[in-house]
Amino acid sequence: MKRREFLKKSLSTGTATLCTVAAAGSAEARENLKPKEDAIGMLYDSTLCVGCKACVYKCKEVNGMPPVQESEIYAWDEARDLSGDTMNVIKIYQDGTAAVKDSEVDGFAFEKRSCMHCVDPGCVSVCPVTAMRQDPITGIVTHHADVCIGCRNCMVGCPYNVPQFEYDDAFGQIIKCQMCNQKGVERIDKGMMTGCAEACPTGATLFGSRTELMAEAKRRMDLKAGEIYNYPRGDVRTPDSFHEKEVPEYKKHIWGETEAGGTNVLHISSVSFDKLGMPPLGDRSAASIAEGVQHSLYSYLALPAVALAGLAITVRRNTDDKEEEL
Ligand code: SF4
Ligand code: SF4
Ligand code: SF4
Repeated sequence: MKRREFLKKSLSTGTATLCTVAAAGSAEARENLKPKEDAIGMLYDSTLCVGCKACVYKCKEVNGMPPVQESEIYAWDEARDLSGDTMNVIKIYQDGTAAVKDSEVDGFAFEKRSCMHCVDPGCVSVCPVTAMRQDPITGIVTHHADVCIGCRNCMVGCPYNVPQFEYDDAFGQIIKCQMCNQKGVERIDKGMMTGCAEACPTGATLFGSRTELMAEAKRRMDLKAGEIYNYPRGDVRTPDSFHEKEVPEYKKHIWGETEAGGTNVLHISSVSFDKLGMPPLGDRSAASIAEGVQHSLYSYLALPAVALAGLAITVRRNTDDKEEEL
């Protein structure tokens, strides 16, 4: 075989190999995970929240964490953001005179921050030792300190900046809301609701199955502003009580229905979510994209070996041709 012909054959073998590997890689890019049939979650309705922080206090109590107190005169929890000391926080949006509740202009609104218990969680996807896990039945995402190696990949993999690290502790650990169901607490396994939903006096934090919470959120989206609605409190499936309230002008947006593959903790509001500090997210989960790319990269690592095999076949054919000519 002439040198030019050999190179041409080798090149076409290599190109064919590359195409095969690329096609295999893109075919492996997986879809978003779907919500679990029996997923457990919460619905936070910002328009019902009065900013009392009973949920923050109860979260600390359930998880055995002391309240964050910056001043001596204020006995309530003063945490302003999630940290190694705080798994749940109430934040405030303010504009202009901040006189009108749930108004974007000259108004204010509350927003709860805790783990969203993603349907396709980035923290689980990036954890190299399965210290972050998703329950296959409830979809609850929990951190397991006994196997965590402290790499903090989960802090980077979370689009909501939820996992925090106990920087003040020499044996610091990752801290995040475990839906009150980690070892030693297990409120959900015991048939209880989450601490924050139990403590919330207005039903702004409502507990239940994702399916029923989604139905409740959609019901609220369909209500007319100004009409009276009977809002449930506690567990959406077996409410402790109801209270009547005038329906606000909701934004027709249920946060967590689709964002980054969806979440089991849903939020609704009268103020747009970008103003409430939610991150800009598309419908694809970062985990589905990253795991697809990762798979393709691993496939491409096989490329030199496969290309070498292609060259070997070409050389072998050439040798056989020569032997036949002899
Ligand atoms: S919000 Fe963050 S920490 Fe919580 S499940 Fe989603 S990715 Fe994980
Ligand atoms: S579910 Fe439990 S851990 Fe999570 S924010 Fe509510 S009280 Fe805190
Ligand atoms: S307990 Fe309820 S009303 Fe009070 S701050 Fe928390 S979510 Fe809002």
